[in-house]
Amino acid sequence: MKSKYIDFKNRIEYEKIDEASNAIREGELVLFPTETVYGIGANALDENAVSKIFIAKGRQSDNPLIVHISNSDMLKDLVTDIGNIEKNLMENFWPGPLTIIFNKTKNVPNNVSANLDTVGIRMPSNPIALQLIEKANVPIAAPSANISGKPSGTLIEDIIEELDGKVEYIIDAGMTDIGVESTVVRVIENKVHILRPGKITKEDIEKLGFEVVIERHILDEIKDNEKVMSPGMKYRHYAPNTKCVLVYSEKEENLINKIKELMITQKNCLVICKNENMEKYDTNNKIAMGRTIEEISRNIFTILRKVDSYNVDLVIIEGVEKNELGLAIMNRLIRACEHNYIEC
Ligand code: AMP
Ligand code: MG
Repeated sequence: MKSKYIDFKNRIEYEKIDEASNAIREGELVLFPTETVYGIGANALDENAVSKIFIAKGRQSDNPLIVHISNSDMLKDLVTDIGNIEKNLMENFWPGPLTIIFNKTKNVPNNVSANLDTVGIRMPSNPIALQLIEKANVPIAAPSANISGKPSGTLIEDIIEELDGKVEYIIDAGMTDIGVESTVVRVIENKVHILRPGKITKEDIEKLGFEVVIERHILDEIKDNEKVMSPGMKYRHYAPNTKCVLVYSEKEENLINKIKELMITQKNCLVICKNENMEKYDTNNKIAMGRTIEEISRNIFTILRKVDSYNVDLVIIEGVEKNELGLAIMNRLIRACEHNYIEC
Protein backbone atom coordinates (compact mmCIF):
# COMPACT_ATOMS: atom_id res chain seq x y z
CA MET A 1 0.00 0.00 0.00
CA LYS A 2 1.13 3.52 -0.75
CA SER A 3 1.81 5.96 2.06
CA LYS A 4 -0.63 8.84 2.55
CA TYR A 5 0.96 11.97 1.13
CA ILE A 6 0.64 15.43 2.67
CA ASP A 7 1.83 18.25 0.44
CA PHE A 8 3.19 21.24 2.36
CA LYS A 9 5.56 22.35 -0.40
CA ASN A 10 3.80 25.65 -1.01
CA ARG A 11 1.74 26.11 2.11
CA ILE A 12 1.60 24.48 5.54
CA GLU A 13 -1.94 23.63 6.63
CA TYR A 14 -1.42 23.04 10.30
CA GLU A 15 -4.80 21.35 10.80
CA LYS A 16 -3.63 18.54 8.50
CA ILE A 17 -0.81 17.66 10.89
CA ASP A 18 -3.45 16.23 13.27
CA GLU A 19 -3.86 13.14 11.09
CA ALA A 20 -0.16 12.40 11.10
CA SER A 21 0.09 13.05 14.85
CA ASN A 22 -2.74 10.59 15.43
CA ALA A 23 -0.87 8.01 13.38
CA ILE A 24 2.15 8.50 15.68
CA ARG A 25 -0.06 7.98 18.72
CA GLU A 26 -1.45 4.82 17.16
CA GLY A 27 2.04 3.35 16.76
CA GLU A 28 2.50 4.08 13.05
CA LEU A 29 5.44 5.70 11.24
CA VAL A 30 5.45 9.22 9.79
CA LEU A 31 8.07 10.61 7.43
CA PHE A 32 8.45 14.30 8.28
CA PRO A 33 10.74 17.27 7.63
CA THR A 34 13.15 18.73 10.14
CA GLU A 35 15.51 21.65 9.54
CA THR A 36 18.40 19.21 9.03
CA VAL A 37 17.12 16.23 6.97
CA TYR A 38 13.84 14.30 6.73
CA GLY A 39 13.16 11.83 9.54
CA ILE A 40 11.17 8.62 9.95
CA GLY A 41 9.32 9.08 13.22
CA ALA A 42 7.59 6.81 15.73
CA ASN A 43 6.33 7.25 19.29
CA ALA A 44 9.58 7.05 21.24
CA LEU A 45 7.83 5.50 24.25
CA ASP A 46 6.35 2.61 22.25
CA GLU A 47 8.91 -0.15 21.72
CA ASN A 48 6.79 -1.87 19.12
CA ALA A 49 6.33 1.31 17.06
CA VAL A 50 10.07 1.98 17.26
CA SER A 51 10.86 -1.51 16.00
CA LYS A 52 9.02 -0.62 12.77
CA ILE A 53 11.63 2.09 12.10
CA PHE A 54 14.44 -0.47 12.17
CA ILE A 55 12.52 -2.68 9.75
CA ALA A 56 11.62 0.18 7.36
CA LYS A 57 15.24 1.36 7.19
CA GLY A 58 16.99 -1.99 7.45
CA ARG A 59 18.88 -0.39 10.34
CA GLN A 60 21.22 -2.37 12.60
CA SER A 61 19.77 -2.74 16.09
CA ASP A 62 22.97 -1.48 17.75
CA ASN A 63 22.59 1.95 16.14
CA PRO A 64 20.57 4.16 18.53
CA LEU A 65 17.89 6.65 17.49
CA ILE A 66 17.60 10.33 18.33
CA VAL A 67 14.50 11.32 20.30
CA HIS A 68 12.81 14.57 19.21
CA ILE A 69 10.89 16.71 21.67
CA SER A 70 8.81 19.88 21.25
CA ASN A 71 9.19 21.35 24.75
CA SER A 72 11.62 20.98 27.63
CA ASP A 73 8.96 19.43 29.88
CA MET A 74 9.16 16.27 27.77
CA LEU A 75 12.74 15.77 29.00
CA LYS A 76 11.64 14.95 32.54
CA ASP A 77 10.40 11.48 31.66
CA LEU A 78 13.33 10.66 29.42
CA VAL A 79 16.50 11.62 31.31
CA THR A 80 17.70 11.06 34.87
CA ASP A 81 19.62 14.30 35.30
CA ILE A 82 20.54 17.45 33.40
CA GLY A 83 23.99 18.94 34.03
CA ASN A 84 24.74 22.65 33.94
CA ILE A 85 26.62 22.46 30.67
CA GLU A 86 23.78 20.54 29.03
CA LYS A 87 21.34 23.14 30.37
CA ASN A 88 23.43 25.89 28.85
CA LEU A 89 23.62 24.11 25.49
CA MET A 90 19.84 23.63 25.49
CA GLU A 91 19.24 27.29 26.27
CA ASN A 92 21.53 28.43 23.51
CA PHE A 93 20.86 25.94 20.73
CA TRP A 94 17.33 24.56 21.19
CA PRO A 95 15.20 24.48 19.20
CA GLY A 96 17.88 23.68 16.64
CA PRO A 97 20.26 21.13 15.10
CA LEU A 98 22.00 19.96 18.29
CA THR A 99 21.52 16.48 19.77
CA ILE A 100 22.64 16.08 23.37
CA ILE A 101 23.37 12.68 24.93
CA PHE A 102 21.82 12.21 28.42
CA ASN A 103 21.56 9.34 30.90
CA LYS A 104 18.21 7.74 30.14
CA THR A 105 15.33 6.69 32.37
CA LYS A 106 13.57 3.34 32.14
CA ASN A 107 10.77 4.98 30.13
CA VAL A 108 13.02 5.00 27.07
CA PRO A 109 12.66 1.61 25.39
CA ASN A 110 15.89 -0.32 24.88
CA ASN A 111 15.58 -0.39 21.12
CA VAL A 112 15.58 3.44 20.99
CA SER A 113 18.93 3.58 22.76
CA ALA A 114 20.30 0.34 21.30
CA ASN A 115 20.69 -0.98 24.86
CA LEU A 116 22.95 1.89 25.94
CA ASP A 117 22.34 3.69 29.25
CA THR A 118 22.12 6.94 27.36
CA VAL A 119 19.72 8.59 24.95
CA GLY A 120 20.31 11.33 22.34
CA ILE A 121 17.69 14.10 22.42
CA ARG A 122 17.03 17.21 20.40
CA MET A 123 14.35 19.83 19.91
CA PRO A 124 14.04 20.56 16.18
CA SER A 125 13.25 24.09 14.99
CA ASN A 126 11.24 23.11 11.93
CA PRO A 127 7.64 24.25 12.68
CA ILE A 128 6.08 21.15 11.09
CA ALA A 129 8.26 18.84 13.19
CA LEU A 130 7.46 20.81 16.34
CA GLN A 131 3.70 20.72 15.67
CA LEU A 132 3.78 17.03 14.85
CA ILE A 133 5.43 16.24 18.19
CA GLU A 134 3.32 18.72 20.16
CA LYS A 135 0.05 17.37 18.77
CA ALA A 136 1.10 13.74 19.18
CA ASN A 137 2.00 14.75 22.75
CA VAL A 138 4.74 12.11 22.89
CA PRO A 139 8.46 12.33 22.08
CA ILE A 140 9.25 11.08 18.57
CA ALA A 141 12.21 8.80 17.88
CA ALA A 142 13.43 9.54 14.37
CA PRO A 143 16.52 8.59 12.39
CA SER A 144 17.21 10.09 8.97
CA ALA A 145 14.79 9.11 6.20
CA ASN A 146 16.73 6.72 4.00
CA ILE A 147 17.45 3.04 3.71
CA SER A 148 20.45 2.38 5.98
CA GLY A 149 23.72 3.05 4.21
CA LYS A 150 22.25 5.47 1.67
CA PRO A 151 22.57 9.27 1.83
CA SER A 152 20.05 10.88 4.19
CA GLY A 153 16.90 12.22 2.55
CA THR A 154 16.75 15.99 2.03
CA LEU A 155 14.19 15.93 -0.79
CA ILE A 156 11.12 13.67 -0.99
CA GLU A 157 11.74 12.96 -4.69
CA ASP A 158 15.05 11.31 -3.71
CA ILE A 159 13.59 8.90 -1.16
CA ILE A 160 10.00 8.24 -2.20
CA GLU A 161 10.93 5.15 -4.17
CA GLU A 162 12.76 3.48 -1.28
CA LEU A 163 10.30 4.45 1.47
CA ASP A 164 6.84 4.70 -0.10
CA GLY A 165 4.50 2.17 1.54
CA LYS A 166 6.83 1.66 4.51
CA VAL A 167 5.37 4.58 6.48
CA GLU A 168 1.77 5.63 7.12
CA TYR A 169 2.27 9.31 6.16
CA ILE A 170 4.78 11.25 4.10
CA ILE A 171 4.88 14.99 4.81
CA ASP A 172 6.56 16.80 1.93
CA ALA A 173 7.80 20.32 2.66
CA GLY A 174 10.32 20.63 -0.14
CA MET A 175 14.08 20.60 0.33
CA THR A 176 15.32 20.69 3.92
CA ASP A 177 17.20 23.74 5.02
CA ILE A 178 20.52 22.65 6.50
CA GLY A 179 20.99 19.40 4.61
CA VAL A 180 23.32 17.53 6.99
CA GLU A 181 22.15 15.80 10.17
CA SER A 182 22.36 17.37 13.63
CA THR A 183 25.55 17.86 15.62
CA VAL A 184 25.70 15.14 18.30
CA VAL A 185 27.46 16.04 21.58
CA ARG A 186 28.12 14.41 24.91
CA VAL A 187 29.48 16.16 27.98
CA ILE A 188 32.25 14.19 29.69
CA GLU A 189 34.18 15.63 32.62
CA ASN A 190 33.05 19.17 31.81
CA LYS A 191 34.17 18.98 28.20
CA VAL A 192 31.79 18.94 25.27
CA HIS A 193 32.70 16.05 22.97
CA ILE A 194 31.46 16.30 19.38
CA LEU A 195 30.51 12.77 18.32
CA ARG A 196 29.08 13.86 14.99
CA PRO A 197 29.72 17.29 13.42
CA GLY A 198 26.85 19.37 12.06
CA LYS A 199 25.56 22.91 11.70
CA ILE A 200 26.27 23.76 15.36
CA THR A 201 30.04 23.86 15.27
CA LYS A 202 32.96 23.54 17.66
CA GLU A 203 33.42 27.29 17.26
CA ASP A 204 29.75 27.96 18.18
CA ILE A 205 30.08 25.92 21.38
CA GLU A 206 33.45 27.41 22.31
CA LYS A 207 31.86 30.87 22.18
CA LEU A 208 29.88 29.84 25.28
CA GLY A 209 33.20 29.32 27.08
CA PHE A 210 33.24 25.51 27.03
CA GLU A 211 36.13 23.30 26.08
CA VAL A 212 35.26 21.23 23.02
CA VAL A 213 36.81 17.93 21.95
CA ILE A 214 36.32 16.62 18.42
CA GLU A 215 36.25 12.83 18.44
CA ARG A 216 39.00 11.31 16.31
CA HIS A 217 36.63 9.03 14.37
CA ILE A 218 35.01 12.00 12.65
CA LEU A 219 37.58 12.04 9.87
CA ASP A 220 39.51 8.83 10.56
CA GLU A 221 38.70 5.29 9.67
CA ILE A 222 37.32 3.09 12.43
CA LYS A 223 38.92 -0.33 12.80
CA ASP A 224 36.60 -3.34 12.96
CA ASN A 225 36.82 -3.95 16.69
CA GLU A 226 37.33 -0.34 17.77
CA LYS A 227 34.86 1.02 20.30
CA VAL A 228 33.33 4.38 19.38
CA MET A 229 31.08 6.66 21.39
CA SER A 230 28.65 7.10 18.52
CA PRO A 231 27.69 3.66 17.19
CA GLY A 232 26.30 5.10 13.94
CA MET A 233 29.79 6.11 12.87
CA LYS A 234 30.84 2.47 12.41
CA TYR A 235 28.58 1.81 9.49
CA ARG A 236 29.01 2.18 5.78
CA HIS A 237 27.06 5.31 5.04
CA TYR A 238 26.27 7.72 2.22
CA ALA A 239 28.35 5.80 -0.34
CA PRO A 240 27.07 5.62 -3.93
CA ASN A 241 27.66 2.34 -5.81
CA THR A 242 30.19 4.09 -8.03
CA LYS A 243 33.71 4.37 -6.63
CA CYS A 244 34.36 7.86 -5.22
CA VAL A 245 37.51 9.68 -4.21
CA LEU A 246 37.69 12.79 -2.05
CA VAL A 247 40.52 15.21 -2.81
CA TYR A 248 41.58 17.84 -0.31
CA SER A 249 44.22 20.53 -0.16
CA GLU A 250 44.64 23.69 1.84
CA LYS A 251 45.73 25.30 -1.43
CA GLU A 252 42.98 25.55 -4.05
CA GLU A 253 45.56 25.42 -6.88
CA ASN A 254 46.96 22.08 -5.67
CA LEU A 255 43.45 20.70 -5.37
CA ILE A 256 42.55 21.60 -8.94
CA ASN A 257 45.83 20.28 -10.33
CA LYS A 258 45.43 16.97 -8.52
CA ILE A 259 41.90 16.54 -9.87
CA LYS A 260 43.07 17.36 -13.42
CA GLU A 261 45.78 14.71 -13.00
CA LEU A 262 43.22 12.13 -11.90
CA MET A 263 41.03 13.04 -14.87
CA ILE A 264 43.86 12.12 -17.25
CA THR A 265 44.39 8.65 -15.77
CA GLN A 266 40.69 7.99 -15.30
CA LYS A 267 38.92 9.19 -18.42
CA ASN A 268 35.37 8.14 -17.63
CA CYS A 269 34.83 10.20 -14.51
CA LEU A 270 32.47 12.69 -12.91
CA VAL A 271 33.73 15.74 -11.03
CA ILE A 272 31.81 17.28 -8.15
CA CYS A 273 33.18 20.72 -7.39
CA LYS A 274 32.47 24.16 -5.99
CA ASN A 275 30.59 26.43 -8.41
CA GLU A 276 33.59 28.73 -8.74
CA ASN A 277 35.73 25.84 -10.06
CA MET A 278 33.27 24.54 -12.66
CA GLU A 279 35.17 26.26 -15.50
CA LYS A 280 38.47 24.70 -14.42
CA TYR A 281 37.65 21.14 -15.45
CA ASP A 282 37.46 20.25 -19.10
CA THR A 283 34.61 17.75 -19.08
CA ASN A 284 30.82 17.69 -19.46
CA ASN A 285 30.54 15.29 -16.54
CA LYS A 286 30.52 17.69 -13.63
CA ILE A 287 28.13 18.78 -10.91
CA ALA A 288 28.33 22.07 -9.01
CA MET A 289 28.07 21.62 -5.23
CA GLY A 290 27.15 25.21 -4.36
CA ARG A 291 28.60 28.68 -3.94
CA THR A 292 28.85 28.77 -0.16
CA ILE A 293 29.46 26.18 2.52
CA GLU A 294 25.75 26.46 3.50
CA GLU A 295 24.68 25.71 -0.07
CA ILE A 296 27.07 22.76 -0.27
CA SER A 297 25.65 21.42 3.00
CA ARG A 298 22.13 21.72 1.63
CA ASN A 299 22.93 20.03 -1.69
CA ILE A 300 25.40 17.34 -0.76
CA PHE A 301 23.08 14.37 -0.15
CA THR A 302 20.90 15.00 -3.17
CA ILE A 303 24.07 15.19 -5.31
CA LEU A 304 25.43 11.94 -3.87
CA ARG A 305 22.15 10.30 -4.81
CA LYS A 306 22.57 11.38 -8.46
CA VAL A 307 26.07 10.13 -9.17
CA ASP A 308 25.25 6.51 -10.04
CA SER A 309 23.06 7.68 -12.93
CA TYR A 310 26.17 9.10 -14.68
CA ASN A 311 27.59 5.60 -15.28
CA VAL A 312 31.20 6.58 -14.74
CA ASP A 313 34.14 4.60 -13.36
CA LEU A 314 35.16 7.19 -10.80
CA VAL A 315 33.60 10.16 -9.03
CA ILE A 316 36.10 12.81 -7.99
CA ILE A 317 34.88 15.10 -5.22
CA GLU A 318 36.48 18.39 -4.20
CA GLY A 319 37.02 18.66 -0.47
CA VAL A 320 36.08 21.76 1.52
CA GLU A 321 37.71 23.39 4.52
CA LYS A 322 37.72 21.12 7.57
CA ASN A 323 36.38 23.68 10.00
CA GLU A 324 32.96 25.01 11.06
CA LEU A 325 30.19 23.55 8.86
CA GLY A 326 32.89 22.30 6.47
CA LEU A 327 33.89 19.67 9.04
CA ALA A 328 30.37 18.18 8.89
CA ILE A 329 30.50 18.08 5.09
CA MET A 330 33.95 16.47 5.10
CA ASN A 331 32.74 13.88 7.63
CA ARG A 332 29.89 12.85 5.29
CA LEU A 333 32.07 12.99 2.16
CA ILE A 334 34.91 10.95 3.58
CA ARG A 335 32.40 8.23 4.42
CA ALA A 336 30.67 8.51 1.03
CA CYS A 337 34.12 7.82 -0.44
CA GLU A 338 34.69 4.94 2.00
CA HIS A 339 37.90 6.67 3.17
CA ASN A 340 39.27 6.82 -0.36
CA TYR A 341 40.94 10.15 0.35
CA ILE A 342 43.82 12.12 -1.14
CA GLU A 343 45.36 15.07 0.67
CA CYS A 344 47.78 17.12 -1.38
P1 AMP B 1 20.57 9.24 12.37
O1 AMP B 1 19.40 9.59 13.18
O2 AMP B 1 20.36 8.18 11.37
O3 AMP B 1 21.16 10.46 11.76
O4 AMP B 1 21.66 8.66 13.38
C1 AMP B 1 21.72 9.03 14.74
C2 AMP B 1 23.15 9.24 15.17
O5 AMP B 1 23.15 9.61 16.54
C3 AMP B 1 24.00 7.98 15.05
O6 AMP B 1 25.27 8.33 14.57
C4 AMP B 1 24.05 7.47 16.47
O7 AMP B 1 25.21 6.75 16.74
C5 AMP B 1 24.00 8.75 17.28
N1 AMP B 1 23.40 8.49 18.60
C6 AMP B 1 22.10 8.35 18.90
N2 AMP B 1 21.94 8.05 20.21
C7 AMP B 1 23.15 7.99 20.75
C8 AMP B 1 23.66 7.68 22.06
N3 AMP B 1 22.85 7.38 23.05
N4 AMP B 1 24.99 7.70 22.23
C9 AMP B 1 25.82 8.00 21.21
N5 AMP B 1 25.43 8.29 19.96
C10 AMP B 1 24.11 8.27 19.72
MG1 MG C 1 21.09 8.34 9.30
